[in-house]
Amino acid sequence: MILSVTNTLLSENVKLLKSEVSKTALQGVLIAIAAIIIGTCFSSLLITGEISLAGIVIVQKQNSVLWVLDCIPFIFGFWGQYSSSMIAYQAGALVFEQTEDLRNKTNDLVKQANYINTHDLVTDLPNRNLFYDRVARAIISVTNNSQLLAILLVEIENFKEVYDTLGRNSSDVILKQLSTRLQAVSPEQDCVAKIDGNVFGILLTSFTDISEIDRLAQAIQSALEKPFMVERLAFSVHSNVGIVHFPEHGDDVDALVQRAGVALELAQSAHKGYAFYSPELDKHSTKRLTLMSELRRAIERNELVLFYQAKMTIKTGKLYGAEALLRWQHPIHGLISPDEFIEMAERTRLITQVTPWVLKQSFQDAAQWHKQGKDLKISVNLSTKDLHDPELPDVITGIAAATGIKPEWIMLEITESSVMRDPEHALEIIKRLHKIGYQFSMDDFGTGYSSLAYLKKMPLTELKIDRSFVSDILSSENDAVIVNATINLAHNLGLQVTAEGVESKEIIDKLSEYGCDIAQGYYLNKPMSFENFNQWLADRP
Ligand code: C2E
Ligand code: CA
Ligand code: CA
Repeated sequence: MILSVTNTLLSENVKLLKSEVSKTALQGVLIAIAAIIIGTCFSSLLITGEISLAGIVIVQKQNSVLWVLDCIPFIFGFWGQYSSSMIAYQAGALVFEQTEDLRNKTNDLVKQANYINTHDLVTDLPNRNLFYDRVARAIISVTNNSQLLAILLVEIENFKEVYDTLGRNSSDVILKQLSTRLQAVSPEQDCVAKIDGNVFGILLTSFTDISEIDRLAQAIQSALEKPFMVERLAFSVHSNVGIVHFPEHGDDVDALVQRAGVALELAQSAHKGYAFYSPELDKHSTKRLTLMSELRRAIERNELVLFYQAKMTIKTGKLYGAEALLRWQHPIHGLISPDEFIEMAERTRLITQVTPWVLKQSFQDAAQWHKQGKDLKISVNLSTKDLHDPELPDVITGIAAATGIKPEWIMLEITESSVMRDPEHALEIIKRLHKIGYQFSMDDFGTGYSSLAYLKKMPLTELKIDRSFVSDILSSENDAVIVNATINLAHNLGLQVTAEGVESKEIIDKLSEYGCDIAQGYYLNKPMSFENFNQWLADRP
């Protein structure tokens, strides 16, 4: 197609060039004819004394030089035509050659662009686009041939750690080795793709029994178990495999890949390291997915609200402060608990809009309380992603300046697991905020994978014992021991202790006996709106 268009264009150009040169040749012919006429007339005047037809005939017959002159237009005409054709064809050939060259280069560039669009340049494996395309095609052919189809997502869980330790070049080497090992265990050629920074996809189209996938998942695990050698050092990776099969788990690419992602999450907590998608365990139900798309608008539409729950100093019975707890006042579903959307907001990065909203609102409320002379310390929850956002200190400083609060009015609650995901960076952010006066509380203590080493390194003010231990201290000897020991540990580290989930007077008495500093829980009050909390404050004796 392109070739025929180019050829037509080329012959048009040759015609154009020829006509241009022919025009010049024609001018030459006309000048030559004019020269003959002038020359003949002048000779006639010289020889016969007049310019007449008879005179012209006489000089033409007598003067042989004029014959030569007569030939010139024919010579010009012929030479013009000949050279015009030659020049035009030479120019045409030159243009053709250069066009061909350009076309080859363009083709190479198009091929290169196509490759970049469809491949991962580090591993040379198909990328997400090509993988989705292949799955879509496979689905069509499965529908026709009634064969089985499965997608396996292989995630390298500790890849960020590897990257941070080794840097880009060496972690690229590991990625290449990973892709080679995956290709080696995969039964079908070309079925492995790299669909994200640390996630590979495997498409299986020719198997007949589900147990074959089981075996493949195990083979993948053991292939990746052996350490990877980079710069004479051995590195181990930790992988998870999430599996879906068509048509049981979805009938289009998006549904299948999304559910393979869910299976991947299930695999993270499965001891085998791999898991099949299961609708019962799918936390990403349709309601949640629609909720996420609505959460974006909820912030703009002012549907988020902060509730406050009191914290009381056990010894004095005085109010210590309040914890800000987020709620979503949904127009259809009513009041939605943060447990239903915070985790998902973290996954979809919407948390980067939620946290600033929470900070702004809680700082505003804190400013109002302090203006009214109420000396309350306001606890604000930060999520895992927040602690890894290097801009957080600047965001907080900006909001503090805009709302006029002092950092010492605020206690930022963080969790062990959010710190432990990337301790170095989290610690850096915590230290930056601590330096300018913000205090930190370790929330849900005892539920994560506690690292006493980090606990000591962190500039904490408070340790919050998780309510799962507190609510059972009266009935469970174990929990009572844990709570007591945690209080002692915290005090030895110079930290104050808050027990959350305090639901009765008896629990407060027990906590007091253990030397716990602060209590928070339904026994004091349930979380309530800013207005209701003010009312509750006013009603307090
Ligand atoms: P959390 O920080 O551990 O908050 C304490 C949770 O325990 C609150 O649930 C509170 O309502 C509940 N609670 C308080 N006292 C009692 C009690 O005596 N008995 C029982 N059974 N429960 C009690 P809530 O408000 O549903 O919050 C759940 C979690 O959501 C919070 O746990 C926190 O991790 C997260 N969250 C809440 N607000 C925010 C926020 O603004 N940002 C972020 N990132 N996370 C938030
Ligand atoms: Ca909390
Ligand atoms: Ca807590």
